[in-house]
Amino acid sequence: MDPHPNPFQIAQRQLDEAAGRLGLSPAMHALLREPMQELHFTIPVRMDDGNEEVFKGFRIQYNTARGPAKGGIRFHSNETVDTIRALSAWMTWKTALLDLPLGGGKGGVVCDPRTLSQGELERLSRGYMRKAAQVVGPDRDVPAPDVYTNPQIMAWMMDEYEVITGRHLPGVITGKPVNLFGSLGRGDATARGGLYTLRETAKAQGLDLRDAPVAIQGYGNAGQFAHQLGGELLGLKTVAVSDSRGGIYDPKGLDYQAVTAWKRKTGSVVGFQGADNVTNAELLELPVVVLFPAALESVIREDNAPRVKAKVVGELANGPTTPEADLILHENGIYVIPDFLCNAGGVTVSYFEQVQNAYNFYWTLEDVQSRLDAKMTEAFHSVHAMAQSQRVHNRLAAYMVAVRRVAEAVALRGWAH
Ligand code: GLU
Repeated sequence: MDPHPNPFQIAQRQLDEAAGRLGLSPAMHALLREPMQELHFTIPVRMDDGNEEVFKGFRIQYNTARGPAKGGIRFHSNETVDTIRALSAWMTWKTALLDLPLGGGKGGVVCDPRTLSQGELERLSRGYMRKAAQVVGPDRDVPAPDVYTNPQIMAWMMDEYEVITGRHLPGVITGKPVNLFGSLGRGDATARGGLYTLRETAKAQGLDLRDAPVAIQGYGNAGQFAHQLGGELLGLKTVAVSDSRGGIYDPKGLDYQAVTAWKRKTGSVVGFQGADNVTNAELLELPVVVLFPAALESVIREDNAPRVKAKVVGELANGPTTPEADLILHENGIYVIPDFLCNAGGVTVSYFEQVQNAYNFYWTLEDVQSRLDAKMTEAFHSVHAMAQSQRVHNRLAAYMVAVRRVAEAVALRGWAH
């Protein structure tokens, strides 16, 4: 077993299976198997100590048949071009599954943002946009936050783009601060959308979620809000959470306010009083009802999948489960809410943000949340129905719904049939 599977090979294998089931032509299949366009560039940055450092950046537009490319920008030290390719493919399937008038893209910078000062981070973010400006734009490709990027970074990038173009174009990027053309409800949208799909799963499976124990791997934007909202919206009891340094477990439940206060103070959830420390690997195998992988790719693999005890795996991260693990979870009767369904709340509210920017007219929080609920619920049922009627696991069902929609747009444009 490969301990570091290549995410893009995984994304291509997943597509291959759906393409076979859908009977796509060789040309259509070949077109959907590769990114349509890639930009690779260098970003020179003046560091605080006066030295110059050169970072590598990427922006990949996987497919734009259904609209402008859409997807986040990651700042991560292990970033690779194949990871961005995979993530841009998954964005393509995500926007199609949610039936948003958008394509898929992704960007990234190889860097460790935790070692950068605010000034360095700003210069790197502006430097990224200076290079990406040649391919992005509200009607071309619209970035957003992802792993280790945030609303402040989006604000700098939007400003840089407006300086370059000399125009007011806030819709060039989403996930902006609410006070700078962002949307209400974007901050917690990924977790909230995932919880709506979990609510629908529970209805479909006859599962009682009240006080159901939950483990969350990853305590970034998605993981933290899943902890907070899981209790508020569905009455879930989060018993374990983790971040890159490790995790904590208390079968009696972990208080959201207390854990976040601890993490703010110490930089990690590890060492939280009254809880046992667990590793990230151990967290995945705890006796819980719901497991939320909310960190990085390929954490549920052939080796540990047989030990996953959750009844439902809600993939808030992108690509947390390998194809081998998918089959094992399916055989063990575990209900997987696949990533590009479960975590699609983020891009859905990003789309709402773009609409608000275009109209220069801003919605209430209630409007955003009720429209998000409607979108997530509809997408959930399209996947669930496909899985039932075709007798396939949920990921393959999600692929079949999404790939068919993209293929239709590609055919109507006459790119391939
Ligand atoms: N990075 C998020 C994702 O993977 C959000 C993308 C967006 O809002 O465009 O879905």
